[in-house]
Order: sequence, then structure tokens, then C-alpha cells
Amino acid sequence: MPHAECPSTPLVLPPALARAMPPFLPGTVWLVGAGPGDPGLVTLQAAWALAQADAVYFDALVNEEVLRLARDDCERVFVGKRAGCPSPKQSEITALLISSARAGKRVVRLKGGDPYVFGRGAEEAQGLVAAGTRFRASPGVTAGVGGLAAAGIPVTHRDVNQSVTFLTAHDAKGALSERLDWTALSAGAPVLVVYMGFRLMRVIARKLLEAGRPEAEPVAVVANATTPRQQVVLTTLARLAAGEDVAGVEPPAIVVVGGVVALAPVLGMAAAHADAAIADAVR
Ligand code: SAH
Repeated sequence: MPHAECPSTPLVLPPALARAMPPFLPGTVWLVGAGPGDPGLVTLQAAWALAQADAVYFDALVNEEVLRLARDDCERVFVGKRAGCPSPKQSEITALLISSARAGKRVVRLKGGDPYVFGRGAEEAQGLVAAGTRFRASPGVTAGVGGLAAAGIPVTHRDVNQSVTFLTAHDAKGALSERLDWTALSAGAPVLVVYMGFRLMRVIARKLLEAGRPEAEPVAVVANATTPRQQVVLTTLARLAAGEDVAGVEPPAIVVVGGVVALAPVLGMAAAHADAAIADAVR
């Protein structure tokens, strides 16, 4: 529940937590996960890094509220994709991080979710290692776990699945990845959590049906998870393949396929009721 009227306070950690925080040395880069959107899901380590950063390089999925955790005089550099404009190349972003660190700055590279989950964080880390720039990876809550929980979908449930598969439907050019084995996924992956699958979700549903998944298998499309714009569509593979139910849904979205989705009507509603009760209580 956002409380816009709350005054902002500097980050003051209890001593036990402050002692646990790694020092953020000038000339180093932290690759930081900002979580799926809700500022309440930012880690303490991310808030700690932002409070000290001299420069923050952020991409499109990072919530503005999270950026406000940085000092007023911190340099904020957008390096994501903006409508109509190409995003800077990965090598250019890495070069910016390196030169900023070489200038003696404490540099935060802020990415949505977790930096190492479909976020190209490892590519940037490799570039930093090659340049001899010291860095730290600071994990975040990934959309395919935390974003689903916010929609009432647990990624595992003992009665349903003993494994969970995270996949991206895209190849580097944005086409359906040829490297995915739909037959193997269909047979061996009870729950599939698809990142970057919004545009391709009809095709993905069709591929899974062709590979033997049942038409009535539950699917959820969870868009803008954990933000005030969160949308949750509960549907089935057959309906998704036919393009039903998803009109008006805006990316970014996670598509999740499998029996855990059947828990959403109960768990998601319970969470919504709890939020409504809190809103009533603070009114
Ligand atoms: N590193 C990120 C993922 C980056 S890939 C993470 O760990 O979450 C970008 C994809 O993440 C989007 O296409 C979408 O599938 C998913 N995503 C990120 N934020 C999301 C959100 N708030 N709601 C739904 N999906 C989200």
C-alpha cells in the first residue's frame, strides 16, 4: 500500500544491520537488483548502495520511487530503451560503468528484478572483470518469483510441482528462441515461468499445446506486478493460444503456466482483501 504522504527519511540502519553491509568503496561498481517495482521490495543492500552512490545507471524497468533512494546530487543516467529510440549497446553501457568507476565514483548499475536473471547483468560483470574494475552483484527480488507471489501464485506448491522452469521466449533479436525444446519442456517442466514472453505469448501457448500440454491447463499473465498498475489475467492454454482474455494488458508481464496458477483465485483474493482492510484501517 503506497503512503505518498510519508516524509522521506535518510537511510538509518540498526547497528546490527549496518555492520552487515559491505563497504561501498569509491572506484567500484555494484550491480544491484531493484526488485519488480514495489519500492518496499528493494533490499536493504540496494537502499544502502543507492544512499551512497555518486552515479546510478538505470534501465527502463526501474521504478522512479526507487531512484529517489539515491542522494539528490547523485548523477542519474538512463541507459534503457525508450519508445522509438534504440537502447545503448551493452558494450557502451559497460564502458560507461568502467569510466565512471575509474573517475573514482561509487557506481550503482540498477536493474529491474535480479541483475542476473535475464537481465544481462553477467555480461556487464564480465566486462568489468576484463577491465579490472572491482564489482559486487547485489541480488534482487525477481519478477518471476516475487511478482507472481504478489498475484497469489506461489512458484512451487508441494501438491503441484517439484521443479520450476524459468525461461525467456526471446532470442537476441526478439524472435521466438530456437534454443527452446518445447517437447522436453512440455514433458518435464510442470511449471513454466516465462520472462519477456508478452509479445509471443500466443505462439508459446500454441507450442506447448502442440507438444502435448492440456488445453485446460491454467495460465496467468501477470503484468506490472507489485505496482499500482498490476494486472492479473487468469486463463487457459487454449484460450491464450486463441488470443482471448489479454486485450488491454500492458507489458512488462510474466506468463506462468501450470497447476500453481489454480491457487491464484484464493491466495490473490486473500491478499487483495488484506490490502483493502489495511486501507480501511489507516483511513
Ligand atoms: N532482471 C529482471 C528481468 C529482466 S527481463 C528480473 O529479475 O525480474 C524483463 C522481463 O521481466 C519483462 O519482459 C517481464 O517478463 C519481466 N518483468 C520485469 N518486471 C516485471 C513486473 N513488474 N511485472 C511483470 N513482469 C516483469
